[in-house]
Amino acid sequence: MEATQGKIYQETDEKYLWHSMRGAGPSPANLIITKAAGAWVTDINGKSYLDGMSGLWCVNVGYGRKELARAAFEQLEEMPYYPLTQSHLPAIKLAEKLNEWLGDDYVIFFSNSGSEANETAFKIARQYHHQKGSPGRYKFISRYRAYHGNTMGALAATGQAQRKYKYEPLGQGFLHVAPPDLYRNPADQETLASAEEINRIMTWELSETIAGVIMEPIITGGGILMPPDGYMARVKEICEEHGALLICDEVISGFGRTGKPFGFMNYGVKPDIVTMAKGITSAYLPLSATAVKREIYEVYMGSEDYDRFRHVNTFGGNPAACALALKNLEIMENENLVERSRVLGERLLEELAELIEHPNVGDVRGKGLLVGIELVRDKTTKEPAPVEQVNKVVALCREKGLLIGKNGDTVAGYNNILQLSPPLSITEDDFYFIVKCLKESILNLN
Ligand code: PLP
Repeated sequence: MEATQGKIYQETDEKYLWHSMRGAGPSPANLIITKAAGAWVTDINGKSYLDGMSGLWCVNVGYGRKELARAAFEQLEEMPYYPLTQSHLPAIKLAEKLNEWLGDDYVIFFSNSGSEANETAFKIARQYHHQKGSPGRYKFISRYRAYHGNTMGALAATGQAQRKYKYEPLGQGFLHVAPPDLYRNPADQETLASAEEINRIMTWELSETIAGVIMEPIITGGGILMPPDGYMARVKEICEEHGALLICDEVISGFGRTGKPFGFMNYGVKPDIVTMAKGITSAYLPLSATAVKREIYEVYMGSEDYDRFRHVNTFGGNPAACALALKNLEIMENENLVERSRVLGERLLEELAELIEHPNVGDVRGKGLLVGIELVRDKTTKEPAPVEQVNKVVALCREKGLLIGKNGDTVAGYNNILQLSPPLSITEDDFYFIVKCLKESILNLN
């Protein structure tokens, strides 16, 4: 596209589009992306970038998969819409396929976004307890630093105060505990004190008021915080001891991101409810799901009028989105992308290990193709690096043609973590391009 035309679109963008998280004043020009293939995106001026974030951690199979477009197109021609108050074949087939991926017996409720999947989970959990004779169980526990969505309940569960300020009051009954942070508190590996905190809060708040715990297996947007071994298993045990449900938010960590079909599978637990979105369609179309253990679903099969789940989602489980999701999962299976994520993730951590030699790199961590690099002012005190330094690395990488993420201005005091979450389909060349750009941008940082 001609430069002048590009500039006009840029101005129109500035004038009419309200971008997510956009602040006031002059900001770096938004990338207007016009083309994408594989792991690469190309902007309106013809410059290409390797998308090291898969969009927003979601384009798991990479861009430009024509078979996904075809699956959606054919379904749109055949039967574009019918609500799931009745049924249709793509939703039936996808619900069955998700059970294969989950490796257990779950019943699936479809929505359109991760936030809605979590809202749905909260409502299901509360009503479940109600119908089991414990209507007082309405509280949910989540971790500080975690993000669970932008709607009033999912945002209430979110543990990032900066995202909540000015929007309160949010949904009621959401409590928070500190997340595990093995970099700053390695002893947690032995003591599992961060899990015991959940035990304590349940006791202090009274078990009879607790509906459930919602957690990502690895906190993603809040800083790629890995749980100690045994943490999730202990949390599940605590939930069982107190009669609470464990809801696993797999919106990012699902569909191979952490080197397993779902993130919780790294930690040997079986959640009561699993929420998923993003990678389910590799973000080609909106779709999300709330997978609920059959025992919970059965509590909704009573004969009283209010026993059923009075929750409807007009667009949830759109046939074209479901057909596309089925094709997306088929691609992941045929190309072995979950295992590829595990293997490349291990290799990536090995390749990036030397970054730790830099005085401002405190920690490099991750699982599968989900990696965080924590920048610090000083390795002894572990004081987080200033946001400016983090921004500098992001800008340097962008100059070199690599888009990476950062945990922004959303986590009090800890906006110092670089994020990497590339498509699981990256080629060998892409892989070494990422390594090279990161090393050149970080090792020369002063
Ligand atoms: N849960 C997690 C862990 C997320 O990262 C996100 C979004 O980034 C959500 C929930 C909300 O998903 P959505 O933006 O599709 O509503």
